[in-house]
Amino acid sequence: MKIAVYGKGGIGKSTTSCNISVALARRGQKVLQIGCDPKHDSTFTLTGFLIPTIIDTLQSKDYHYEDIWPEDVIHKGYGGVDCVEAGGPPAGAGCGGYVVGETVKLLKELNAFYEYDIILFDVLGDVVCGGFAAPLNYADYCVIITDNGFDALFAANRITASIREKARTHPLRLAGLVGNRTSRRDLINKYVEACPMPVIEVLPIIEDIRVSRVKGKTLFEMVGFEPSLNYVCQYYLDIADQILSQPEGIVPKEIPDRELFSLLSDL
Ligand code: ADP
Ligand code: MG
Repeated sequence: MKIAVYGKGGIGKSTTSCNISVALARRGQKVLQIGCDPKHDSTFTLTGFLIPTIIDTLQSKDYHYEDIWPEDVIHKGYGGVDCVEAGGPPAGAGCGGYVVGETVKLLKELNAFYEYDIILFDVLGDVVCGGFAAPLNYADYCVIITDNGFDALFAANRITASIREKARTHPLRLAGLVGNRTSRRDLINKYVEACPMPVIEVLPIIEDIRVSRVKGKTLFEMVGFEPSLNYVCQYYLDIADQILSQPEGIVPKEIPDRELFSLLSDL
């Protein structure tokens, strides 16, 4: 199964992805997480460092695919999760879609692309141009991360439009929204009333999740030293279980921008 995680920058995609990946591995799945954000820190809490990107490795080998070994680009992360960082196109030039395409091509050449039960793509979502929508070409499910604010829901609605578009030619479904870093969900509820889609989970602001980023560890690793964090892991296990149950999902229909503005403002 292939899952694409999208959402506004800084909303918690990578944090959530890493923890979902470990949760899926705990459920017996062989998992590969592919960071598709030029920020290339998607897998940081799985490996504890910034692993070399596919693009860096390809450049260092002059794009000779045959000189690249799986261990050059696939790094072992916590809990048995394998990790890849696609890297980014040259700033101000190049295309994010090209980078994702090269990554998938290389993984196929290394016979790694079909070796996993789950591949999770962690993708930025502020700009969903054709390039950054590329992971949707491979995904069975999309999960959108949002908080209870206008900007993240606006990005979610743009991602929704991209899913609707891609679903015309690909067997892609939206699994649903994951609310993150919010104790309130009134705007999330308003949005899903107007644009029906499942809400998979809503996580509050949890100081230890912020700390996990600084420590370079997932919550599953931290719970080893701090058993009281078990309740946080349960959120991620619950998301993993919902994904593994292969939900029907939906092909969503986005709301026109002006309607979204009036829906989410008090004017
Ligand atoms: P993105 O990948 O969407 O850019 P990150 O996963 O890097 O975002 O998260 C941005 C910051 O928010 C990180 O420092 C992370 O630890 C923090 N964070 C994510 N989710 C939570 C949460 N539920 N509670 C507190 N901090 C969080
Ligand atoms: Mg990220």
